Amino acid sequence: MAAAMFRCIECNQDANELHRDYKNGILKITICESCKKPVDKYIEYDPVIILIDAILCKIQAFRHILYNTEINIHWKLCVFCLLCEAYLRWSLLQDSEPSSDPADIIRYTKEWDFYAMFGQAALELAMFITGVLGFLWLIQWLRGHQLQTRFLLKALLLSSYGKVLLIPAVIWEHDYSPLCFSLIKIFVLTSNSQAIRVILNCGRRLSLMAIAVGLLLETCVTRSLQNLHWRAEDIMPLQ
Ligand SMILES: [Zn+2]
Repeated sequence: MAAAMFRCIECNQDANELHRDYKNGILKITICESCKKPVDKYIEYDPVIILIDAILCKIQAFRHILYNTEINIHWKLCVFCLLCEAYLRWSLLQDSEPSSDPADIIRYTKEWDFYAMFGQAALELAMFITGVLGFLWLIQWLRGHQLQTRFLLKALLLSSYGKVLLIPAVIWEHDYSPLCFSLIKIFVLTSNSQAIRVILNCGRRLSLMAIAVGLLLETCVTRSLQNLHWRAEDIMPLQ
């Protein structure tokens, strides 16, 4: 790994290296000068174990992923998660509007609704992130600190990986699907909250407040889009 600043996953202290190579095939994990624990025990762990710890929202696993690895798939993951969300909304829309009208069938065949749902999901995500970043920027500005906007954005996008669970929830449709969707949403928000705590090294209260502001902005956009949709239907009733 290039000469980069690492972090101790236990106490968040800066570290220059994660391990030392003694040339004779001997590698020794660096011990943190502050907490006297291994700087990053996860470098020895299997990726599956790290993923399980991330699913359990362990802050050490989040620190390892965000500070001590070079994962740069956040934009690809973001697009994939938006596709999952668009597919969920699109499938719910088709279930709620069964129609034998040929015009509707053609519309569904072209899947314009899917792209509309993708756009709506993207806009809501943008508003959520804007709310979170705006609130945290303000708090950090009041404290006289600078917000690492790009790094925090990456953390928020990476920690939204739970949205991929929407696909199996839609495919294996059952009576408890709405409950599953709510649980997935709570899981994603919990992961987002942990990611904020790791980047800002702050308490749970501040991260939850940032999530609440983001959700509020997202809900405002959702309601506005619904009102626009209803008004459009009033002006141009379906033929
Ligand atoms: Zn430490």
